[in-house]
Amino acid sequence: MNIIGHLINGEICTDAARTQDVFNPATGEAIRQVALASVETVEQAITIAEAAFPKWRNTPPIKRARVMFRFKELLEANSDKICKMIGEEHGKISHDAAGELQRGIENVEYACGAPELLKGEHSKNVGPNIDSWSEFQPLGVVAGITPFNFPAMVPLWMFPMAIACGNCFILKPSERDPSSTLFIAQLLKEAGLPDGVMTVINGDKVAVDVLLTDQRVKAVSFVGSTPIAEYIYATANANGKRCQALGGAKNHAIIMPDADMDNAVNQLLGAAFGSSGERCMALSVAVAVGDVAADALITKMTAAMASLKVGVFSESSNDFGPVITSQHRDKVVGYINHAEEQGATIVVDGRNPEVEGYSDGFFVGGTLIDNVTPEMVSYKEEIFGPVLQVVRVETMQQAMDLINDHEYGNGTCIFTRDGEAARYFSDHIQVGMVGINVPLPVPVAYHSFGGWKRSLFGDLHAYGPDAVRFYTKRKTITQRWPSAGVREGAEFSMPTMK
Ligand code: NAD
Repeated sequence: MNIIGHLINGEICTDAARTQDVFNPATGEAIRQVALASVETVEQAITIAEAAFPKWRNTPPIKRARVMFRFKELLEANSDKICKMIGEEHGKISHDAAGELQRGIENVEYACGAPELLKGEHSKNVGPNIDSWSEFQPLGVVAGITPFNFPAMVPLWMFPMAIACGNCFILKPSERDPSSTLFIAQLLKEAGLPDGVMTVINGDKVAVDVLLTDQRVKAVSFVGSTPIAEYIYATANANGKRCQALGGAKNHAIIMPDADMDNAVNQLLGAAFGSSGERCMALSVAVAVGDVAADALITKMTAAMASLKVGVFSESSNDFGPVITSQHRDKVVGYINHAEEQGATIVVDGRNPEVEGYSDGFFVGGTLIDNVTPEMVSYKEEIFGPVLQVVRVETMQQAMDLINDHEYGNGTCIFTRDGEAARYFSDHIQVGMVGINVPLPVPVAYHSFGGWKRSLFGDLHAYGPDAVRFYTKRKTITQRWPSAGVREGAEFSMPTMK
């Protein structure tokens, strides 16, 4: 079976002492294997990246940006191939994979602005004949560890900006769908990136732990589940590294009594079930304010869900595909069982979907659950599947309290026609990314992405302006050139402007 290797020093190589199967989740078949890097392989890759750093650091930002311009063109030229790779290993439908790739490319476009973004700050005459300026220098070797659910987009959140800032980047993608990520990284060489600046190490905890503890790695960006994000953040910090670790989510939508219900149902349908609910911004809880709104939501949503099409990625009329593994399918079904046992009402049951020709695939159908309460396991934890739960409350404040009390704070949305209510909501809700009649408020590439509470550990958000700060360190220089022959005496008090 074909073994997916690593990209080290511009070449694909394999240390296949340990491997893991990669599945096509629609057929349930292992289609290839991925090499799981050893400690020695990761250490060797860090040595190579470190050696490439001095030259890349001194490459003018405009030349680094030109690599990104060419990289963007190559991503667009290869988009069909990339989307097929994503579909085959992740299962998401081709139109959804194309959307993911496009959102990733937008981060490359942003990185093309590196010469402008890296401009420092300058102050003339901070003292007599003294000038001062700040510049933003790259960190050195930096690493990224990414999840399975966006094998193209999430890595593209990280490495284009890190590299455009002058760093060397080591990426450890998800071992469950690594092919598209590796292929994308290979395009950088064709775009003119020197060998050693971009590295891909496939692997598991063994590889991650080297990146977290090796003193030559200066910063770590992580996106994945909250327990692992917390571990990554604590370990990276204990080893003196800068770290941003984005975790899991439980995103609520408030449905106000005045909402345009047909519009809200359409929006919720895509946001809850698109990509099988395997998005950190998936809207998985609808909080209906008042029984009139709740009953209308359930009635209209049930009708709309009758036409949901679940199936294989290559059929573009499908709405969503399988979940990533058989274990994950069992976990999602387990949450639905729990909700039922704990007294919720299963309105639309996706536990045994019929997908013709794909009986061994890891499919879960769209599921709608009513009368969910905050004590239920299915409410507290992230399901990460095509399951929409409805919680009924009496007031908007109760809906907001629910959201604010939840451990996660990634995304949220309110459906209303009342501007005053929407403004109050966006001002007071304890969540990092907020939508007003926008179900998936994923910030564009020139803003930054990040949740609050246990959805993000660290200070700076991913991509956009925060990424420029995350992947550089500020140096402030104060300069004086005394005139020839002019010498000042020693001064023992703290220097001030006189
Ligand atoms: P995961 O946490 O299982 O894996 C993420 C990465 O961590 C992978 O590269 C994996 O190899 C590595 N990893 C796993 N276990 C590890 C361990 N014990 N030690 C060191 N490294 C380890 O996440 P996943 O299942 O791939 O992705 C789904 C999760 O990611 C969901 O919780 C989702 O909400 C979250 N996610 C969050 C965002 C965000 O921006 N907040 C975006 C996408 C996904």
